[in-house]
Amino acid sequence: MKTVDLRSDTVTQPTAAMRDAMLSAPLGDDVFGDDPTVNALQQRIAELLGKEAALFVPSGTQSNLVAIMTHCGRGDEYLVGQMAHTYRWEAGGAAVLGSVQPQPIEHQPDGSLRLADIEAAIKPDDAHFARSRLLALENTIGGKVLPMSYMADATALAHKRGLAAHLDGARLFNAAVELARGTGNDAKTQARAIAQHFDSVSVCFSKGLGAPVGSALVGSKEFIARAHRWRKMLGGGMRQAGVLAAAALHALEHHVDRLADDHARAKRLAAGLASLPGLTVETPQTNIVFADLAGDRAATLMPFLKSRGVLATGLYKLRFVTHLDVNDDGVDRAIAAVREHLAS
Ligand SMILES: *Cc1c(COP(=O)(O)O)cnc(C)c1O
Repeated sequence: MKTVDLRSDTVTQPTAAMRDAMLSAPLGDDVFGDDPTVNALQQRIAELLGKEAALFVPSGTQSNLVAIMTHCGRGDEYLVGQMAHTYRWEAGGAAVLGSVQPQPIEHQPDGSLRLADIEAAIKPDDAHFARSRLLALENTIGGKVLPMSYMADATALAHKRGLAAHLDGARLFNAAVELARGTGNDAKTQARAIAQHFDSVSVCFSKGLGAPVGSALVGSKEFIARAHRWRKMLGGGMRQAGVLAAAALHALEHHVDRLADDHARAKRLAAGLASLPGLTVETPQTNIVFADLAGDRAATLMPFLKSRGVLATGLYKLRFVTHLDVNDDGVDRAIAAVREHLAS
């Protein structure tokens, strides 16, 4: 029985075509700037997102940390969502390694940070306060898509008040696929339209795009030059990294538009789960389905699902993530396993 792994979109295996691209990639020592495949990827993602330069990094966590440390110095602060990855899920790196104080802000139900809350959190220039330097947003955030107009308004506010704006776009292309609907844009054009509002953007190749490893940070030439030094200090200088960059290039070429399939499967999964008793299911906007299970059934659900070859997570809520390696049959098996547990 093949496992249906819905824990995260990070669990994908490289496709055969992606492995071929990795095997045949020309390589060099990227610490010397010599890896042609890394250089090609950096150029491609920078162009695609309408920025001057890009830096290939081992993880999204390092990409965000490098970005924050490049925007902010010791004693500065960044404004960030209470549930944002950069704040909650990155082990406090900005504070520990960057001496940068986070100023968390409560999210609205749609994942956004209220403009008035952002405004109120920006500190006056006064010796009592940390210097507010950066607004960090995330899109998608918990699988939800922040609208274009919101990103425009929030970043305009940041810029007006002298703050830079960073986007944690680990799932930027999932957001772009949804925001492109009805605009006549393709997902890549939409991703560029998103990126134009931000001074820096981090994207993950290892989430829905299906590459095994790697993220990129994009921004101005000057910004990326300074980011490069932090990447080195944080241990992110990799040598023949083109073997990984090749997978990312392949993913950009072949795996962006298909994210719409993951979103359709998430909707199929949500609809199936919503029909079951005792489950409250949020309608997914992209590839992440959240559900609440009433009563004491929740504790035994995960082991039961596992016994049926279905994996999910349940830290705050039940979470199911669709991706490249989940087909319609896998979705239906997940629904059937949950149904079986609730009926038992
Ligand atoms: C996964 C994720 C990251 C971090 O990526 P890693 O490669 O796992 O370090 C950052 N931000 C968001 C929103 C993510 O989902």
